[in-house]
Amino acid sequence: MTFEILYEDGKARVGKLYTEHGPVITPFFMPVASKGSVKAMEGADIDILGFESIISNSFILSLSPGIDVVEGAGGIHKFMHFKKNIFTDSGGFQVLSKDFLIKKTDEGALFKDQSGKKMIYTPEIAMKNQIRLGSDVAMTLDDVAHYGLSGKEYVDAIRRTHDWARRSIIAHKELKKEYDSKQLLFGIAQGGTREEYRRFSTHKINEMDFDGVALGGLVIGESRGELMGAIAESVKHFDDHKVRYLMGLGSPPDVVRAVGEGVDCFDSIYPTSNARHGSMLTRKGRFMIKKVAYKNDHGPIEEGCKCETCKNYSRAYLHHLLRTHELLGYKLATIHNLHFMNNLIHELRDAIKKGRYKEYAEDFLKDYFSGKEAKEFSNNVQQKYMEKLRKEQAKIFLDWKGE
Ligand SMILES: [Zn+2]
Repeated sequence: MTFEILYEDGKARVGKLYTEHGPVITPFFMPVASKGSVKAMEGADIDILGFESIISNSFILSLSPGIDVVEGAGGIHKFMHFKKNIFTDSGGFQVLSKDFLIKKTDEGALFKDQSGKKMIYTPEIAMKNQIRLGSDVAMTLDDVAHYGLSGKEYVDAIRRTHDWARRSIIAHKELKKEYDSKQLLFGIAQGGTREEYRRFSTHKINEMDFDGVALGGLVIGESRGELMGAIAESVKHFDDHKVRYLMGLGSPPDVVRAVGEGVDCFDSIYPTSNARHGSMLTRKGRFMIKKVAYKNDHGPIEEGCKCETCKNYSRAYLHHLLRTHELLGYKLATIHNLHFMNNLIHELRDAIKKGRYKEYAEDFLKDYFSGKEAKEFSNNVQQKYMEKLRKEQAKIFLDWKGE
């Protein structure tokens, strides 16, 4: 058994996902370590914060430092010194980004690496890279159909995603034997926000022999209403006993709502990227700590927060560190935002166990959108911010030499 449901409350559930470095209790949120580090944090820091799982990116690691290096270190857990569960994404999102994709074919993607060298990336290569990295959960290579495509583009992407999913299963079965691996494999459904496409893709991926299922191609430009509609439509067509992973979702109110729709796991650069930009998560929404109003504010980031940053440092100190680009500022801000996410997840699990998810979600959302700072981030502004985050993620190679 890969996944068991422990408690249910409406569509929301608490479960247990069994992996080689697990088990992991669901729902859970994964900090993103695309290049093998959650930016500004050690593996041990992530462990201390209470996260049981993170996600790295096998495509990015294949370019630098190279799969050989990580394999030679004894696998990704040893390489980055994180002892718990590690997911690896195939890199479909990156490899198919127009920033470096040369040509997409049914065989795979022809792309240019950071030195300009041409390479082919296929579903089989994505499987082999992930097995060699030794992650607990591998993701299939999918043709990401993001928001705003034409009907034909969606159909092509879905067809290719399903074909690549079938090929991934065959390759992964062989590789598991060859490498004596217990790695799990998750399939990814596409379909954008169009109900009929979403339903079709979810059905197909659900039928295939995957250990878990993922909702792909979301949180990339669609409105919040369209996002929640696509989630609700997808979840309906996945079997209950399969763990459901929504890729790329990390804003706290969206996580709360998606858990209510029956989603079990999430990953996003949202809390860590926000932290480094000085955008702090609180129960009353986000606020920008670099604003001049916090220059002389000697209170913690959030009153009552039990994170190490709030216990020991003030808003004024964080304001100073981040405005002067001191490296410690990135770490302290990241600790707070990740602690906030982990705390939120624990409260959600607790509410589901007690059968009071609905009340919890209502209270949380009311508070989150009540603060005066939260008004800075109305839905519209939030949307623009998500678009900015997406571009940042897509350009991950362009800042290769930077951070
Ligand atoms: Zn804090």
